[in-house]
Amino acid sequence: MTRPRSRPGPTGQTGGPVPRHCDVVVVGAGLAGLAVARRLRDSGVEAVVLEAGDGVGGRIRTDAVDGFLLDRGFQLLNTGYPQLARQVDLERLRLHALPRALRIRTGEGWATLSDPRQRMSAVPGLLRAPIGPLSAKAALAAHAAAAGYLPARVLLRRPDLPSAVSWQRRGLGGAVAERVLGPFFEGVTCDPEQETSSRFTDLMLRMFVRGRAAVPRAGMQALPRQLADGLPDGAVRLHTPVREVRADRVVTEHGTVTARAVVLATDADAAHELLPDLAPVRWRGLTTYYHRVRGLLDADATFVVDAEPSPVTNTVPISEAAPTYAPPDQTLVATTVVPGEGGRDEERRVRERLARLYGTGFGELEPLATYAVPRALPSMSAPHPFRRPVEVAGVLVCGDHRATSSIQGALESAQRAAAAVRARLGLPRRAVSVAPADV
Ligand SMILES: Cc1cc2nc3c(=O)[nH]c(=O)nc-3n(C[C@H](O)[C@H](O)[C@H](O)COP(=O)(O)OP(=O)(O)OC[C@H]3O[C@@H](n4cnc5c(N)ncnc54)[C@H](O)[C@@H]3O)c2cc1C
Repeated sequence: MTRPRSRPGPTGQTGGPVPRHCDVVVVGAGLAGLAVARRLRDSGVEAVVLEAGDGVGGRIRTDAVDGFLLDRGFQLLNTGYPQLARQVDLERLRLHALPRALRIRTGEGWATLSDPRQRMSAVPGLLRAPIGPLSAKAALAAHAAAAGYLPARVLLRRPDLPSAVSWQRRGLGGAVAERVLGPFFEGVTCDPEQETSSRFTDLMLRMFVRGRAAVPRAGMQALPRQLADGLPDGAVRLHTPVREVRADRVVTEHGTVTARAVVLATDADAAHELLPDLAPVRWRGLTTYYHRVRGLLDADATFVVDAEPSPVTNTVPISEAAPTYAPPDQTLVATTVVPGEGGRDEERRVRERLARLYGTGFGELEPLATYAVPRALPSMSAPHPFRRPVEVAGVLVCGDHRATSSIQGALESAQRAAAAVRARLGLPRRAVSVAPADV
């Protein structure tokens, strides 16, 4: 299995000569860099975005292969992320939402957890689920309700502990942690030990209660593309790696660009290399396996979490929710393994497990592509600083490593960096300020 070729970037976003001077230069055309440029444009400031790669999106790219849409590492956006509502036209993305439910495979059979606000039958399902005694189920329901409905600032006042410790203290240890919270959040944080900040997992639970997990009709890359499409032609220069960064200039192999403000919007490793004052991060990784089934799988689009010992962390027949992800009469199954290594043996073990989970023949699952992403998310071990400074050694810095390792975090850091650029340029503050709980 080889990695498919990338799609070309949007028109007008190419390499070529870089300007010698501009108001603002942004390094990196991932979500954070594009969001900064978009926010500055809304304030009347034109920024030039220099991107090392061959397209926009950074860690959010989509390959089109034989009629399938393959995100380079399966991911979902959550409509509950506060920054998506502020910075993105979600309607234009034409989202396909997954059902508000989880199917969990435990050693004692299946547990289906769905939202009682949608289906009253969710209650007997929860009562029957093999996930611990009634008291534990009541604690889980209360935990989800509190995360969803308490003000976010209340959640953020709780002590920031490793999630496993926090769950234990709140009566959510034992089977609930082992069969529900642990396996589910392993797929979100790529952290099997559950050392991740409990404030972060509480906030993520809040998003799942309040919003919908979804993918855009045209694949996840439609999200960064929408931001890029709002920039003037030529504002994004692809194939332009930046070699050096200072407060008032960047050096590329095409020349030096001076600017009134420089925004470093790369991933954490490149940021540390270009600006050693920034501390390095520890990465968490995952591997996505895509399989096709010629025909329709006997399963709906409910997200499956595998809580039994197996190579699979979670899996979903994504084209059941998002028909644009597969040709008609075929099914695309997206499976996450944490961390995984993407080898043939692992793929085979994953396929064997999928055949059991979906009750289908091993031979019916055809491998389509594998994406091993060892640097998917900067680790957020507790205690996690939700807002790292966005000004370091005179350079403005954004990206998920300055906030939380998520789409929301990348956008939130961009909002703060754009505000810092406006202050640097002496522009008035925008009316919309950063809400304390919007992290
Ligand atoms: C497989 C996977 C699954 C994920 N799942 C989810 C999920 O379900 N939900 C969620 O909310 N988040 C998820 N995330 C996290 C989310 O995608 C990231 O947090 C977010 O995309 C980070 O954006 P960014 O702009 O901070 O960084 P990046 O996307 O890394 O962008 C940085 C950009 O800088 C460029 N660059 C680097 N060095 C240079 C240089 N020297 N010169 C010029 N350009 C340079 C890079 O090429 C890149 O385009 C997932 C991530 C991965 C990888």
